[in-house]
Amino acid sequence: MTAPLIDPFHRAVSYLRVSVTDRCDFRCVYCMAENMTFLPKKELLTLEELDRMCSTFIRLGVEKLRITGGEPLVRRDIMTFFRAMKRHLDSGALKELTLTTNGSQLERFAEELYACGVRRVNISLDTIDEKKFADITRWGRLEQVMRGVDAAQAAGLRIKINAVALKGFNEDELFTLAEWCADRDMDMTWIEVMPMGDLGNEDRIGQYWSLDELRGRLAERYTLTDLAERTGGPARYVRLEETGQKIGFITPMTHNFCESCNRVRLTCTGQLFMCLGQEDMADLRGALRSSEGDSVLEAAIRAAIALKPKGHDFDYSRQKVDGQMSRHMSHTGG
Ligand code: SAM
Ligand code: SF4
Repeated sequence: MTAPLIDPFHRAVSYLRVSVTDRCDFRCVYCMAENMTFLPKKELLTLEELDRMCSTFIRLGVEKLRITGGEPLVRRDIMTFFRAMKRHLDSGALKELTLTTNGSQLERFAEELYACGVRRVNISLDTIDEKKFADITRWGRLEQVMRGVDAAQAAGLRIKINAVALKGFNEDELFTLAEWCADRDMDMTWIEVMPMGDLGNEDRIGQYWSLDELRGRLAERYTLTDLAERTGGPARYVRLEETGQKIGFITPMTHNFCESCNRVRLTCTGQLFMCLGQEDMADLRGALRSSEGDSVLEAAIRAAIALKPKGHDFDYSRQKVDGQMSRHMSHTGG
């Protein structure tokens, strides 16, 4: 029996988020510059390497895998990877295989994702106004995402909508979005914007909108009941009693969740970030490529987990809140 991954603070690492590409078919203003330079292909883990990497983590006790990016569904042949991961769901080792997507390719892939054992997807959607959607994503078309939402529901996938809260941009859609999600039986999460990407240069879009304020506005119309449910991540949830729907708030800038952190993040180049708020990382690609067997990789993963920091509250709020994260979210995976 392989010993599970336990960090120095007795937290079991059971959740791995994997970015499978840094590329995307959108250029959301808070995430990417319009003329992004992407990594050369050879830097990326191949699909076989992604399989080896994830399978090793699963052997070491990871039970939940979230695939992200960039846009995961624009990675060529990504369904081969999802199909391969199904064997871990079938064996019972993996409890959940899921993804975060902008929805643009769901019309094409929803059924196949369901067939691979995916049951829930997070779709990022900040507005349901066509013009605003085109503005914020620069290259996206709302209609295409809406077809993706329809296809996902038709395929039986449960959807959670993630919206980045942007003052002066989607403030006026607080209730519209909540009602749209309730009508379609989708949960929803608001994400506080982090200072990344091109945000600083946009004067119209991308103002910081605090989730405390957002929550207060929501409470003017609905009865909010706090839910005890925690996922080991930065989300807190309430139920809107009038609609029965669950609304989450993700405040990555307010780190009050480190003590229950159960997750690590793998970039598309095989770097493992033990903590979103710190620059510390381990190069697992080198370990993986250095040997055909998985024992070197396994040792590198264990060594990395042994360095998982207790938290990043203090440093992060002191050094980064006013500054820019040096990493792009599309590289680490949101
Ligand atoms: N392309 C996929 C998508 O958009 O869902 C997956 C990757 S994207 C980087 C993951 C999440 O990060 C999205 O929900 C996106 O809105 C969020 N995100 C990107 N940049 C952000 C920022 N500066 N602040 C807060 N959230 C951000
Ligand atoms: Fe692409 Fe997602 Fe970033 Fe938007 S948030 S540019 S969809 S990776």
